[in-house]
Amino acid sequence: MSTGQRVLDACTGAAVAIIGHSDPDVQAAVSEQMAKVCYTHTVAFTTRAAEDLADYILHGKPHGLCRAFFVCSGSEAMDTALKLARQYYVEIGQPKRTHIVSRRRSYHGNTIGAMSVGSHVSRRAPFEGALMLNNVSFVSPTYAYREQLQGESDEDYGSRLVQELDDEFQAQGPENVMAFISEPVGGATAGCLTAPKGYYQGVRQLCTKYGIMLILDEVMCGSGRTGTYFAFEQEGEGVYPDLITMGKGLGGGFAPMGAVLVHEKVVRGFQSGSAWFVHSHTYQAHGVGCAAALAVQKVLRRGRLVERCATKGKWLENALNTTFGNCQYVGNIRGKGLFWGIEFVKDKATKEPFEPGLRFTWRIVDEALRRGLAVYPGAGTADGVKGDHIIIAPPYNMSDADFDAMMRLLKDTYDTVEKDVAAIRQHPRCAEHGEAGKQ
Ligand SMILES: *Cc1c(COP(=O)(O)O)cnc(C)c1O
Repeated sequence: MSTGQRVLDACTGAAVAIIGHSDPDVQAAVSEQMAKVCYTHTVAFTTRAAEDLADYILHGKPHGLCRAFFVCSGSEAMDTALKLARQYYVEIGQPKRTHIVSRRRSYHGNTIGAMSVGSHVSRRAPFEGALMLNNVSFVSPTYAYREQLQGESDEDYGSRLVQELDDEFQAQGPENVMAFISEPVGGATAGCLTAPKGYYQGVRQLCTKYGIMLILDEVMCGSGRTGTYFAFEQEGEGVYPDLITMGKGLGGGFAPMGAVLVHEKVVRGFQSGSAWFVHSHTYQAHGVGCAAALAVQKVLRRGRLVERCATKGKWLENALNTTFGNCQYVGNIRGKGLFWGIEFVKDKATKEPFEPGLRFTWRIVDEALRRGLAVYPGAGTADGVKGDHIIIAPPYNMSDADFDAMMRLLKDTYDTVEKDVAAIRQHPRCAEHGEAGKQ
């Protein structure tokens, strides 16, 4: 039901509606495709839209990526990537590779495969031991705020994490490992965690050394969000994925779309074997979805919107740090481009999170919405259970005036919640009483 309230969208859902909520070109492309042909089965047919979308994204074979497999969601893309990785090793005669290494504090989706390689504690809980792959182990995330040691340089922190990954590969036997999976900028679970300098170069070298696939999940951080089309492009010379997943921003919210982009090395592996990927979905490479996604890509390029993510991102970084850097409950501000996480803590000095019962994140989200601002919530930030953050991920084409308004609304929201929470912490009894009606 509509309440008529105007809401400024500072998170585009879950970093989805990258060019906003309506666009005449996308609308035209979708109706044109619907008028031509809606459904074709990919066993025998393809559509111009699907071919053109693949050509557009893979033009010039970026970083050796040369094939695309289009699906309808990020989770499907992750499952498809897992199956591509596994079948690749069967094709090249290394069937012993069955183990997958992922990272704690990661999110890769909610299908059984994607959920199994992710570590979103609350979304996994009911399914542990029943609907979870058990050939997955987890290493540390890139979580500088909580895990970089006092006096440790960025480079040393990165090397320590790479060493930990090497140790995990050794523990499993590198010849048994098929893939390492990570989000270049972590999304939903811990809020825009970025990697220390050199980390991905070290990871790439390790994966190459042992012949293990590097699967990058850019479902949330990709499609230009961080200021480059692929987020990994900012991780230094020589970094490339064997498989990369896309989603959210790919269809920009106009159509349910996901994709796996495949490195030529993987394609060659398949070609040396059966040359047939044992996988399909009825709605894969759907014409209307591909037409929408292609139109979104064109809007990005024409409006130089990825560049805008980079430049406006610098502005936003500065604005967030100036506005919130000294706030009592703001522990950490992190991110890249137009993808920023703000982590809230009870105590800045000890970094101790709030009790989950205080619902700090939800206080922010509710107060923001009351004021007409949408931000993306996250809880369990610190350890899967405790911790609070929000994600700021506005549309790439949001106007400067709206950015200013967003910052004002965000500050007013925070100030109100800070005051409420300070009062509750001083007089917990009254707060309990006052909160009773809200549950
Ligand atoms: C959202 C997300 C997914 C899952 O995508 P769905 O479209 O929700 O299935 C996978 N990986 C990352 C990093 C995500 O943010």
